[in-house]
Amino acid sequence: MTKYIFVTGGVTSSLGKGIIAASLAKLLQARGYTATIQKFDPYINVDPGTLNPYEHGECYVTEDGAETDLDLGHYERFLNTYTSQANNVTTGRIYQYVINKEREGAYLGRTVQVIPHITDEIKRRMTLLGKDKKFNFVITELGGTVGDIESLPYIEAVRQLKWDLGEKNAIVVHLTLIPYLKAAKELKTKPTQHSVKMMSENGINPDILVCRTEEPLYKDLKRKIAQFCNVTEEAVIEAMDADSIYSVPLEMMREKLDVTCLQKLGMPLGNEPQLLRWKEFLNKLRYPKSKITVGLIGKYVELQDAYKSILEALIHSGAVNECKVEVRNIHSEYLTPQNVVEKLHNIDAILVAPGFGNRGIEGKIDAIRYAREQKIPFFGICLGMQMACVEFARNVLGHKDAHSTEMDSNTTNPVISMMEDQKKIVNMGGTMRLGAYDCELEAGSLSASAYGMTHISERHRHRFEFNNEYLEQFKEKGMLPIGKNLETGLVEIMEIKSHPFYVATQFHPEYKSTVENPHPLFVSFVKAAKEAQEAKKEAIIETEFEKMPK
Ligand code: GLN
Repeated sequence: MTKYIFVTGGVTSSLGKGIIAASLAKLLQARGYTATIQKFDPYINVDPGTLNPYEHGECYVTEDGAETDLDLGHYERFLNTYTSQANNVTTGRIYQYVINKEREGAYLGRTVQVIPHITDEIKRRMTLLGKDKKFNFVITELGGTVGDIESLPYIEAVRQLKWDLGEKNAIVVHLTLIPYLKAAKELKTKPTQHSVKMMSENGINPDILVCRTEEPLYKDLKRKIAQFCNVTEEAVIEAMDADSIYSVPLEMMREKLDVTCLQKLGMPLGNEPQLLRWKEFLNKLRYPKSKITVGLIGKYVELQDAYKSILEALIHSGAVNECKVEVRNIHSEYLTPQNVVEKLHNIDAILVAPGFGNRGIEGKIDAIRYAREQKIPFFGICLGMQMACVEFARNVLGHKDAHSTEMDSNTTNPVISMMEDQKKIVNMGGTMRLGAYDCELEAGSLSASAYGMTHISERHRHRFEFNNEYLEQFKEKGMLPIGKNLETGLVEIMEIKSHPFYVATQFHPEYKSTVENPHPLFVSFVKAAKEAQEAKKEAIIETEFEKMPK
């Protein structure tokens, strides 16, 4: 039978429930079990697809084209397995389903209420992934903080499920904060006591407490937390701030979070967790042999969660190259042709980020021109690829007003235009070209050698595309569509051969990069940046040498 683990959060948000859930799943997986993780978000948007990244950070896209919370990215990066639409549910989706059923007359004249109709639908979705027995464990992360009004139906659903499923089949792991008061030099347990009390008032006694803390929890303090919060002593888990999110599984292993969960669920411990590859990755991450700086050009750079998957993919590919990747955030809104050299001259590679709308667009184009002309390794993703085409059309093909029709619907040179089947769509939510599509690569291209194959599949999230009417002109001047979807003829990757590394993708490679499978394009991008840095150093030595008196 599938066992259920619910992860709730108390005291404050941003304690890292997603990372704890992913770390626990990783440990269970490393013991030979199968596990999946799902996230329930208490907001009323049907999915995060229509949300501005400033709200909840990046929108993560799954293989099946679901626009989801960024925590699903962590689940995939940790577990190296795919998630799907079923792994992310919002209050909006629950209500939409219940209201549609009510309109169909499915409730046969009864009053439709939060309890039981909304809670029943939450419960149905919470157990959906456990239905076909594919997983030994389904871990459910509840968004929000216990005590929020909007979290109440979820807490009630968990309370009922614990009862329905019976003892040893469902447990609650509560993530909480033990603040350290510097002036008093003391760790404080009161906020945790209050948040556990609030859960008890709602009928749930957490089984395990994961305590985020800046200082180690000494034995007596753990005992005090256990006694006052009604959990066993080994169920108080210390979660100190870690140097990297990828260290957390090992920290949780040291604290025996997996062992305690298995015991509470009456499951055999199985093997000791096999984490050899994970440890190898961490070693490379901690002890890099070189360092490069990548300029990340975007318009949401002040918020680190806005480009989460890109930042993580750079960490994975840095580790493969035994190289620390320092990311310099460059706000595209403040880039101009006048300051582009000053802002970009001392970075080793340029990545132009995905995005929507006009803000900061000219800055992106300026950065791309600089990367192309100065032969700096360049990686453009989605909007980054589209703007690479606009830049090329303007400055190489001579179409001065070239643009994407997203930014300028009156341009006489729409090198990027709306996909035909997008033109009749009126609703914004869930209607882009989303999820996995095949792509055929040209043998001998940079991308084909990075992937080591010519047939790939990558995830998408866009409405606009390269306008094939301009294809011949681009090819003639050296910007080549080396990746295409054969069914639709849509351009997926552009490369410039006379450049050391110029790769622009219509898809989002970052979504598929994981610790155990770093994305090949990111790996070669970092490698190219390292080589460019080496070449630059050699050139400096060379000129210094020339200047020396002979
Ligand atoms: N705004 C562009 C489009 O809709 C690019 C989207 C993106 O970068 N994800 O096509």
